[in-house]
Amino acid sequence: MNIVVCVKYVPDATADRQFESDNTVDRVGVDGLLSELDEYAVEQALQLKEKAGGEGTTVTALTVGPEKAVDAVRKALQMGADQGIHVVDDAIAGSDAPATSLVLAKAVEKAGADAKVDLVVCGMSSTDADMSVVPAMLAERLNLPQVTLASVIETQGDQVRVKRDGDTATEVIGATMPLVLSVTDQSGEARYPSFKGIMAAKKKPLETWSLADLGVDAGQVGLSVAWTEVAETTARPPRTAGEIVKDEDGSGATALAEFLAAKKFI
Ligand SMILES: Cc1cc2nc3c(=O)[nH]c(=O)nc-3n(C[C@H](O)[C@H](O)[C@H](O)COP(=O)(O)OP(=O)(O)OC[C@H]3O[C@@H](n4cnc5c(N)ncnc54)[C@H](O)[C@@H]3O)c2cc1C
Repeated sequence: MNIVVCVKYVPDATADRQFESDNTVDRVGVDGLLSELDEYAVEQALQLKEKAGGEGTTVTALTVGPEKAVDAVRKALQMGADQGIHVVDDAIAGSDAPATSLVLAKAVEKAGADAKVDLVVCGMSSTDADMSVVPAMLAERLNLPQVTLASVIETQGDQVRVKRDGDTATEVIGATMPLVLSVTDQSGEARYPSFKGIMAAKKKPLETWSLADLGVDAGQVGLSVAWTEVAETTARPPRTAGEIVKDEDGSGATALAEFLAAKKFI
């Protein structure tokens, strides 16, 4: 089985995040990491490999992003992916979801040139733009079926059965590979890279591809052809000190209830 797992490099949500002068997210001058939600995708890809017996299954971690985005691939390799692909090209900066899915689709096609890709695994959403649309766009571009938001994944041969939890119902969906699958944060805790895994990752194959390698014209991607444009950004106001309710004369409970009622918490 040939599995490609899409891993996005995102700004660290616990660090200061900022925008570029053109209102796109600064992905270069800030600390970044493998999107936490894509760790679940890597985990599921690795579990499918283990269930298939390991031998004969390859897990390839694929990212599209700036120079530093290679760290997302490295983390996936440390977790256990077999090989990595980093698509990097100055022209990709500022790409929207349609352009990102185009580059990912071309990279998946190239990755499957020698051995057909059976499964493309994505996270449920990125932790920065959070649009949750790339897997569907990727499926459309690859002309593959999509099964999104899976919480339980079972495979038997080329058959895939997933549990998909919706707001009002849980569906069980069957599909036949090849397909695009996105997995939720309910699919199982992602493993931490072991020391052995970290050392082994240094020797795993990692390829760097440009747009030219994928046969994608630079005019098809980037901010100038993006369907969406962020017109304005406003920094979050600084935190103000909390309100302390003192209970020196026995009126604390009333004051606390009044405070919560005023904020419509009760
Ligand atoms: C309202 C709005 C306006 C925007 N405007 C702009 C803009 O003007 N300019 C601009 O540049 N961007 C803009 N963006 C952001 C941009 O569209 C996204 O960063 C990008 O296209 C990918 O979408 P996503 O991160 O939401 O992916 P999602 O669809 O949330 O990602 C789902 C999964 O797809 C895979 N995936 C997604 N991206 C990658 C990747 N790069 N590499 C590998 N795997 C990936 C991962 O498995 C991920 O878990 C905007 C976003 C929004 C919501």
